Amino acid sequence: MIERFKQDDAGYIRWSNEHPDGFVLHRKSGDFSLHRSQWSHIYEMGSDYALTSAEKLCAQSRNELVHYSREHTGRAPTACESCEP
Ligand SMILES: [Zn+2]
Repeated sequence: MIERFKQDDAGYIRWSNEHPDGFVLHRKSGDFSLHRSQWSHIYEMGSDYALTSAEKLCAQSRNELVHYSREHTGRAPTACESCEP
């Protein structure tokens, strides 16, 4: 199941704490990047210190997020080079 967080920092933080081994899609100018849930640099990617000003899509299943990205952009998400999801 994919959960979406937009303008909902509290919800996003709660989710990542409850799913420390989950994965996160971060939408960046039409494309997606894929990250591990518990990775501090995700917290720095939002603008104006808001975590969810750019939509975050969260799931326990990496495959589910890759599939979502393919459906919506035609491409697999870019795997983050820092947290290597
Ligand atoms: Zn990352």
